[in-house]
Amino acid sequence: MLKSNPTVSRLQPFTSTIFAEMSALAASTGSINLGQGFPDTDGPPAMLAAAQQAIADGVNQYPPGPGIAELRQAIAGQRAAEYRQPFDPDSEVLVTVGATEAIAAAMLGLVESGDEVIALEPFYDSYAAVIAMAGARLVPVRLRPDSSGRFALDPDELAAAVTDRTTVILLNTPHNPTGTVLTAQELEAVAALAISRDLLVVTDEVYEYLTFDAAAHLPIGTLPGMAERTVSISSAGKSFNVTGWKIGWACGPAPLIGAVRAAKQFLTFVGGAPFQPAVALALRDELDWVRGMAKGLQSKRDRLCSGLRDAGFEVTVPQGTYFAVAGIDRLAAPGEDGAAFCRSMPERCGVVAVPQQVFYADAGPDGPGARYIRFAFCKRDQVIDEATDRLASADRRRR
Ligand SMILES: *Cc1c(COP(=O)(O)O)cnc(C)c1O
Repeated sequence: MLKSNPTVSRLQPFTSTIFAEMSALAASTGSINLGQGFPDTDGPPAMLAAAQQAIADGVNQYPPGPGIAELRQAIAGQRAAEYRQPFDPDSEVLVTVGATEAIAAAMLGLVESGDEVIALEPFYDSYAAVIAMAGARLVPVRLRPDSSGRFALDPDELAAAVTDRTTVILLNTPHNPTGTVLTAQELEAVAALAISRDLLVVTDEVYEYLTFDAAAHLPIGTLPGMAERTVSISSAGKSFNVTGWKIGWACGPAPLIGAVRAAKQFLTFVGGAPFQPAVALALRDELDWVRGMAKGLQSKRDRLCSGLRDAGFEVTVPQGTYFAVAGIDRLAAPGEDGAAFCRSMPERCGVVAVPQQVFYADAGPDGPGARYIRFAFCKRDQVIDEATDRLASADRRRR
């Protein structure tokens, strides 16, 4: 007889995602979806044309396992030009099916079952699931709002989380969902700890270009002593507005990339043949387009943040990514947490956001993220304005 719940116990906590629920609510109520983070404009035209041309030219069969040489060379070229990070395209660069697969393959290839993996909390939703798939344990270290509202890393808290079972620190900067860009000081503390406790660092840098004002992305792999113990992960999705292409990559020393490849080759083997030459072109020729897009995002950030403030939210202005975190204390009904608030928003005001609490190990109504919700601002200006207008009038009606 079939078990009533056939899902294995290690994956039972992960069977549904709030993103699917909220996107379905957005569709059924005709709401503006600022929940899931995908842009509503296209990437650089030459890159899009290159993918179409590749299909027309018959680039439609399995590419080489590690990715096509042209793309691996372009990735190595970009890391060298942007960060002076030298990688051998043949042994130190691996093309993956999005950053998501690179993270999964890194956990499956580098973490023994029973090991502990430290991740910054709140964390991207796939981290907990793939750490569980590896049979490992996630140890969250919380980013906490400082006096300016920035979610900051406390190096003492991080050091206290390391045990004899810790093998990997899984970093994410620029950080989703808080918008924090880790500072040189914070990264130096992580590096010093990794070196003194002999840990690997896997760093998710998919928002490497999406930083604002004076904040700049510093890859931890460039710090002294870190190249040999760091796997750096990024992706075309966020940089070039092609979240549906799922072309990502991992860079690091050959032994670490070999371990990631060992897992990757049996997850998907390969992916995205016609997209690979297009992303190679974009990494070579379209970085000015990306920088222009990031500038545009900064003004979208300001547009959304001031609209949210006018609507009564407390807003943390993000230094990077395309998400803004808003506090609901002034707007929520008594006893209402972020999840209940988000479920009521489509009906109340025709806007969808995501409760921040789903990015915490304790996602309950009294958990640390329960008073915040997350909005995406990678949308056309008129969409942002319409959303904040709706939020402002709805919440005025309610008060
Ligand atoms: C979007 C996102 C990813 C996934 O990247 P893909 O290339 O689409 O797989 C990974 N990490 C973070 C923090 C993200 O926001």
